[in-house]
Amino acid sequence: MATIEMKNIVKKYGDGFPAVNDVSIDVADGEFMILVGPSGCGKSTLLRMIVGLEDITSGDMLIDGERVNDLAPRDRNLSMVFQNYALYPHLTVYENIAFPLRLAKRSKQEIDEKVREASRTLDLDEHLERKPGQLSGGQRQRVAMGRAIVRDAKAFLFDEPLSNLDAKLRGQMRTEIARLQKRLGITTVYVTHDQTEAMTLGDRVAVMKRGELQQLASPRELYEQPVNLFVAGFIGSPPMNFLPATVEGDQITLPFGTFPLPSAKAERTAGKGLLMAGIRPEYFEDASVQVDADESRIFTAHIDVREWLGDQQYAYVPYDAEPHVQDQLRELARESDSDSLRTQLVVSLDSSSHISEDDEARLSIDTDKIHLFDPSTGENLT
Ligand code: ATP
Repeated sequence: MATIEMKNIVKKYGDGFPAVNDVSIDVADGEFMILVGPSGCGKSTLLRMIVGLEDITSGDMLIDGERVNDLAPRDRNLSMVFQNYALYPHLTVYENIAFPLRLAKRSKQEIDEKVREASRTLDLDEHLERKPGQLSGGQRQRVAMGRAIVRDAKAFLFDEPLSNLDAKLRGQMRTEIARLQKRLGITTVYVTHDQTEAMTLGDRVAVMKRGELQQLASPRELYEQPVNLFVAGFIGSPPMNFLPATVEGDQITLPFGTFPLPSAKAERTAGKGLLMAGIRPEYFEDASVQVDADESRIFTAHIDVREWLGDQQYAYVPYDAEPHVQDQLRELARESDSDSLRTQLVVSLDSSSHISEDDEARLSIDTDKIHLFDPSTGENLT
């Protein structure tokens, strides 16, 4: 097992534009670290620098405290699991798992012990004589991990291992990887562009954009305290609503009304002019079913579309925004790779709420949780 430390890592390809720009991330022993971000943000490049498949332009890469910048991949003793698992189709499960040990010229007895131990851990002992073509996607993934285990690799590195699978299998495999990683306690770095994978698998998640680290935090912290507009828009499904807002005294004005704002938030945003408010769909409630509803937080909303999902329902509420605010929202959508930033609210309600399309619904808003961003820097002021 190992720690992995990335210190001020920079990677420039030929054109000089940094694909990875001054990124520092410490991965603790046994930790499951996720690198996530939209296409081209530099997450695969960073992973490839850890494993040694890519030179580091500047900065230090340390594994177990040892600087490995100039160490060949095979001497780093890390194990990379690729999208297609890179199994040998003509070899049995046993031989696939044994492969790295044969390469290392280990004794027959040692190979046998290690393969059998790994296959017990991975519940593969009944399939040792099968070929990869006779296995399910999940079993193939386990064989690939078995090969990593027998090598006593210091860490697992995954590069989008589930992106070729259909949604159902992807869900199953995600659980399987989480279970195995916890059981084995092996330090893991996992690259994905999928925020659901990031949030469900990671002990901590590093969110990247255009080569730069935006925030490194636990999934809960990313969700509840995003540092900027990009992270706020990237994490969460349906995504956070972004709306123009102004704060005066202890009041916030949004396109659909003026509401009380906790004084701590009001103080931090005083005199800042036009702000961007971030409101998650679940910060709204159906006021008609609320006990002791606070009238000052209630507004009337015209629902144009309703989606019923069984345990909850989403209501879509269009609102008017001035043209310059619409421009700002479009810019934000482009920046955050999101298509969510239309001039409509997405509201998540309990499935028991009696709302329907074309209703004028009474909704209440929880302004205690609202985020307020500086629209020019994107920084979360609250
Ligand atoms: P994706 O999810 O699409 O693979 P990514 O976040 O993993 O994206 P990288 O593959 O790390 O991104 O690429 C980061 C940037 O570096 C991109 O702008 C990409 O075009 C550039 N890049 C990657 N590999 C090379 C290369 N061999 N030569 C030149 N530029 C490269």
